[in-house]
Amino acid sequence: MRLTSARLRAALLAAASLTLVAAALPPAQPLGIGDRLFPTLGNPGYDVLAYDLSFAYRSNDAPLDAVTVITARTLEPLERVNLDFTHGKVAAAEVNGQPAAFESAGEDLVLTPRTPLPRGAALHITVRHTSDPRGRGDGGWVTTGDGLAMANQADAAHRVFPCNDHPADKAYFTFRITTPAGKTAVANGLPVAPAHRAAGGAGTTWIYRSHHPMATELAQVSIGDSAVVRRTGPRDLPIRDVVPAADRERLEKWLKKTPAHLEWMEQRVGRYPFETYGVLIAGANTGFELETQTLSLFERSIFTDTAYPEWYVESIMVHELAHQWFGDSVTPRTWSDLWLNEGHATWYEALYADGLGKYSLERRMREAYQRSDQWRAAGGPPAEPKAAAPGQKIGLFRPVVYDGAALVLYALRQKIGTAAFERLERRWVAEHADSTAGTADFIAMASQEAGTDLTAFLRPWLYGKTTPPMPGHPEWSGPKRV
Ligand SMILES: [Zn+2]
Repeated sequence: MRLTSARLRAALLAAASLTLVAAALPPAQPLGIGDRLFPTLGNPGYDVLAYDLSFAYRSNDAPLDAVTVITARTLEPLERVNLDFTHGKVAAAEVNGQPAAFESAGEDLVLTPRTPLPRGAALHITVRHTSDPRGRGDGGWVTTGDGLAMANQADAAHRVFPCNDHPADKAYFTFRITTPAGKTAVANGLPVAPAHRAAGGAGTTWIYRSHHPMATELAQVSIGDSAVVRRTGPRDLPIRDVVPAADRERLEKWLKKTPAHLEWMEQRVGRYPFETYGVLIAGANTGFELETQTLSLFERSIFTDTAYPEWYVESIMVHELAHQWFGDSVTPRTWSDLWLNEGHATWYEALYADGLGKYSLERRMREAYQRSDQWRAAGGPPAEPKAAAPGQKIGLFRPVVYDGAALVLYALRQKIGTAAFERLERRWVAEHADSTAGTADFIAMASQEAGTDLTAFLRPWLYGKTTPPMPGHPEWSGPKRV
């Protein structure tokens, strides 16, 4: 009886106003998928298949007009659909072609469709909104001297567009960017068609599409007075760099290094996983470089400030390139698995510097070993890092997940030998390509390649408060451990 009356009530309410439908449900609240470090990131109940993002840019002083279209399917019956979105104004929302009620709850945008959605239903969401590059940067849009770039890691994609903002839900992306005449827009993936005059004749529209699924945190849109520099890499891979037009010639000495970096990485871990690669050099002081998929973001100053030695700059280029395999093609299942991104990227960065004869891997790892206990005390163990302090979102990116995690890989190589370690690295990126994977998967695969269960060896390295003895280097533990 109650069921029937509830159904009747739902039918009556569906025929009434949208506000009444919303009022009939409990208050909207921010939801998450249970990430230990970001409890309200991501949303339960659906799987996004594709994002189609349209942005109309005027200047850095005005919000962009945006339309986000999400194609998804429900994994459970849903009366509401939570998206992650903040820092923009929503004008309208539709679910499956019908207007939907919408409201904000924390950093979630909560949609209430006219009728509840069953499990396994196709879900087509359209949100008309603004995307605001202004305000103090906490990730999302980055303002540059001549336009915008994007830096969404770890949890800032939803400051730019409504999404299921967790790397566990990867999807295909299409970008449609309209710019004033004279500006150039580039995004992840490859152009779908040549840039064309925008509808209505005002400016130019640029369309790009990712050929592989991508995490929201890896989205990139660059708008600026840019030169797009093209060359080819291994197997004719299209390489596309995006640089300030005025610096094009000055930066060529760095840009031309990428094909050799790609060959170097491919020799170690196998074929490059995406349709294109390149560097985006932005006139901004971000304080970090970022492995946005197919188009890594770099600050201009790292290439133009002569204080950085050449080997160091190259090793940072290799770090971001290595992330295309470790972090982008294989994304972390939870943010506690961040060490799988940064540990591997740091590993190849260090190995590259070692190969240049500038800074040996063994010296770097010995130095990391000396600091590892201190890093663990400050940031938690590599695979269970402490959450960032409020308002310090990139505070998650501490030494323990960089050199502290590369040290775990070094310990593993010491334990199982170089041949098994290299097999593991290749297999990891091959079997988990275009997917997500976590720490338990890595321990399992390492054990298979070693032919012995490594759980008892790896767990203290990944989860211990202190650093275990280094295999093959008893002298590193030294007197302090007596
Ligand atoms: Zn990194």
